[in-house]
Amino acid sequence: MIDEARRLAPRFAARAAATDRDGSFPVDDFADLRDAGLFGLMVPARLGGAGAGFADYAEVAYELARGNGATALVFNMHASVTGALGGISDTLADALGLPPEAMAARDEHLKAAAAGSWYAVAMSERGVGSRLSKLTTSYQRVDDGYRITGSKTFCSGAGHADAYLVAARSASDPTQVSQFLVPAGDGMRVEETWDALGMRATGSHDLHIDVTVPESALLGGLEGLALVAVQLAPHWMVASYAAVYVGVARAAVDAAVAHVNERGLGHLPAVRARIGRADAAVSAAHLAVREAARRVDEAPGEVETNRWVWRAKLLAGTTAAEVAASMLEAAGTSAMRRGHPLERLYRDARAGSLQPATSDVCADWLGTDALGGDPDSDGVAPRW
Ligand SMILES: Cc1cc2nc3c(=O)[nH]c(=O)nc-3n(C[C@H](O)[C@H](O)[C@H](O)COP(=O)(O)OP(=O)(O)OC[C@H]3O[C@@H](n4cnc5c(N)ncnc54)[C@H](O)[C@@H]3O)c2cc1C
Repeated sequence: MIDEARRLAPRFAARAAATDRDGSFPVDDFADLRDAGLFGLMVPARLGGAGAGFADYAEVAYELARGNGATALVFNMHASVTGALGGISDTLADALGLPPEAMAARDEHLKAAAAGSWYAVAMSERGVGSRLSKLTTSYQRVDDGYRITGSKTFCSGAGHADAYLVAARSASDPTQVSQFLVPAGDGMRVEETWDALGMRATGSHDLHIDVTVPESALLGGLEGLALVAVQLAPHWMVASYAAVYVGVARAAVDAAVAHVNERGLGHLPAVRARIGRADAAVSAAHLAVREAARRVDEAPGEVETNRWVWRAKLLAGTTAAEVAASMLEAAGTSAMRRGHPLERLYRDARAGSLQPATSDVCADWLGTDALGGDPDSDGVAPRW
């Protein structure tokens, strides 16, 4: 799968300028991902997938992002849904008391992914961001399942995904935040609002929801699992973007090297030093992402693993923005023209620190921890 991602990256890179310019969804990239079987990356082998771990995912995301960060970011949403679902072991299911019907439904969602379906994440809301504890989208029990109503924003891949992971709050018990997998179609209306500075091809539009779903759509089969899922698998919520932004940063270095060689600027010491510093910074951030990913696979949930997860997100986000800015400066004004790869990469890289957990929130988490506090509960505001 990593080789497949490497094979696809140049194809994505060739299409990236057009989808960025138009703010259109990279439909052809997604057809390539489907054909390569990548929608089954995180699906266990017994259900027809590749059975990848988090470290494998991180390598795939890095390679895809070297081609097109926007494509890799949308793919990350699908990988997060399938990775979190596939990560529920029988032992964990027993410990949480998940009903067998919910595990059967989970297997069906994963089999569908291995067969070529892909899932988007509809969590964020206007004025709330991704803070699960503040969501206003609500659900209530009805005879044949659940009725969900509300509006989401920043939903990458809206209008193209086969189903959406929707986070919503119980109308009867607002302390319960649950997650549903809702098929695209009636009751899921996309409003095309995404016209952003960077990651323009992610199609992160608003989604208006008024839908009734069967009981099997409630992930885990129990209400109130959304915050539990963040605690059990913080790597998907916090650090899965990290590999994407390190890939974007590496693409910026590659684009600068190509530009500098083409323009014959390599003899300038300041240009050479910028490229040298950028290479070191991207390599260091990549190592941090790999270390976090290795620990997630080997020692999930351990205190030191979680520290690396937050470090990786912080380093990837800040490194991408700093490196892309420096590479633009090394390349000069001609790289600022629309259509030049560095112009797009500079804007795409800017989004890394802003995606939750934002760089400021990551730094606060790590600082609170270093000072002996409880980083999950001692923030100035709830983390989620
Ligand atoms: C390219 C892109 C694609 C995205 N795709 C998706 C998607 O597919 N699905 C989805 O659901 N969302 C998606 N998002 C949205 C994203 O996950 C966040 O929900 C969103 O960026 C939060 O926006 P916000 O404007 O409310 O800012 P916030 O994240 O709320 O940040 C506002 C400010 O508050 C600070 N802050 C936030 N939380 C805390 C805290 N706990 N303590 C202290 N300070 C805090 C931040 O550092 C920042 O300075 C995407 C975002 C981007 C940029």
